[in-house]
Amino acid sequence: MRVLWFLLAIASFLVPGVCAVAELRAAAGKVDITPTRPAYLAGYAANRRSIGVHDRLWAKCLVLEWQGTRIAFVACDLLGVPRYQAEKIRAQVKSVLPERLYIAATHVHSGPDTLGQWGPDLRTSGVDPEWMATFRNQVVQLVEETAARLEPAVLKLASTTEVPRISRNARVPQILDRELGVLQVLSVQGNRTIATVVNYACHPEVLNNRQITADFPNWLYETVEGKIGGVCLYLNGALGGMVTADFDEDAAPRGENWKAAEEIGRSMGERVLQILETAETVRNAPIRTQRRVFRVPLENPRFRALMAMGIFPSDVLKNGQIETEVNRITIGPAEMLTLPGEVLPNIGLYLKRKMTGKPRFLLGLTCDELGYILTPEDYGLELYAYETSVSVGEHIGPKMVQNLLAMMEKPKGGSAGTQTVRAEERSK
Ligand SMILES: [Zn+2]
Repeated sequence: MRVLWFLLAIASFLVPGVCAVAELRAAAGKVDITPTRPAYLAGYAANRRSIGVHDRLWAKCLVLEWQGTRIAFVACDLLGVPRYQAEKIRAQVKSVLPERLYIAATHVHSGPDTLGQWGPDLRTSGVDPEWMATFRNQVVQLVEETAARLEPAVLKLASTTEVPRISRNARVPQILDRELGVLQVLSVQGNRTIATVVNYACHPEVLNNRQITADFPNWLYETVEGKIGGVCLYLNGALGGMVTADFDEDAAPRGENWKAAEEIGRSMGERVLQILETAETVRNAPIRTQRRVFRVPLENPRFRALMAMGIFPSDVLKNGQIETEVNRITIGPAEMLTLPGEVLPNIGLYLKRKMTGKPRFLLGLTCDELGYILTPEDYGLELYAYETSVSVGEHIGPKMVQNLLAMMEKPKGGSAGTQTVRAEERSK
């Protein structure tokens, strides 16, 4: 009898779909990361100190597992989570391997300063170290608690380019990715929504005042979570130079158009729910991961000055270079690429053209926030003077694309372990 059980257990590993071990398992959770005292707000001009909280800021987590490959996405209502902070979180988490924990920011411009450059003056960081430590601990706990609740799950995948008025490109109007991608996770038992991941490129910067708010994602969450339950994660796309919210800017004083933020969030949420109605259920969703770690020269003299003043940590710089990473994740037919900053939409569209999955998700500001990422041809143009001033340099664009293409050409990786390549070592 014991032998029979043993053979059944072996078979269950070998034959996908035969029993529980081959199934997709999932769980989601969220934690309130809103500062409990006034904070310097990230984005726009420095010294913008909050005077109140309009709506809560969240860190939202989705853990997925397939045949022992466990991954986790954490989407934070923050302007950016730099890699040196994400690495501290990864080092503490025990339930998910560091290289499979993808920490992303929605890029909201009405949350606490996470980078340091929006403090009271040019020489003082705007990061509240106490809040930052609390945030990191909250995310660690969130991932651990979520990973402990995994249950059998199925997916729904959907995407459309037919979207309501959400975004526009303020630099070159014709270059705009209007693809709205959705990954929904449903529990096998009871068909309950576990999570809805929404991917769309747009700066959450309708609001620019002294209230803490998640901006339009607040109403996206309210619409999706309110109608179908579960946890709604907003993962931004290639939103750089300059994909921003599209609304009537004369309808209210600058930065005060709460109605527009609400309309954009709600209409995005309604469209998400509409496209899910006709989406087919995906029962077999193998998860494969690849990662490439690479270095780029820090060319921006402003960033170097911020390091010299101690506003940016200087120990991230080694031989004049910064280390960053890109990831490729496939979940069933869906394909995702993580981007370490604000990638310009022309690069985003090019990457999508090279991707073979369906749907295709570009996850901007994930695992790092290195500012704008332009092509070398665009870098330094008058049109992109602002983006150039908030970019590590002209080399990051080609290096990032080269590493992403290399993963797409060799789509190995898988349940045996994340395929991690250190690009700088390979080139030696
Ligand atoms: Zn931005």
